[in-house]
Amino acid sequence: MRKIKMKPINVSNTTLSFNRKKIKFDAKQAKRHDFGDAHCVVCDEVFTKYHNSAKMCGRECVRLRKIQRRKTYSEKNREKIKAQGRAYYKANREKISAQHRAHHKKNRKKINARKRAVYCPATQREYHEENREKRNAQSKAYGEKNREKIKAQKGAYREKNREKIRAKARARYYAKKDASK
Ligand SMILES: [Zn+2]
Repeated sequence: MRKIKMKPINVSNTTLSFNRKKIKFDAKQAKRHDFGDAHCVVCDEVFTKYHNSAKMCGRECVRLRKIQRRKTYSEKNREKIKAQGRAYYKANREKISAQHRAHHKKNRKKINARKRAVYCPATQREYHEENREKRNAQSKAYGEKNREKIKAQKGAYREKNREKIRAKARARYYAKKDASK
């Protein structure tokens, strides 16, 4: 049994032809070449070969094969790919962040619209209400687990922003004083 996935189309004087992107087939015309039949390596169906070393029955299976190969490669070389990415980022940090900034500047409206579409305050609030206890427990657990880290962060922040913090406190103090007059 022959299985051809593509719709037969009329291609002048070519029974089976393969032109990179399109597999053309016309079942009614006489064969010019006979490449025989083969099992598709992806779906295992028997198909008529459109060239001598055809392994896949049609475009869909070619596509699946490509995806599968890419996946296998990236699984096998995960660490290598990650290291390459890191190295590239390190070498091109300035360029990449400039690109990001430029992209953001150029597409600000689009990006913000998308953010608004995803972020909905009403659902957010509802979610928070529903999961209040869970969230509280989570944040408490996080605080307990990372006590030292948080302390250090806070200390570093205070150290770095000493002047700012003092100025704010002063402003609050005088505002209160003025209000009570
Ligand atoms: Zn196939």
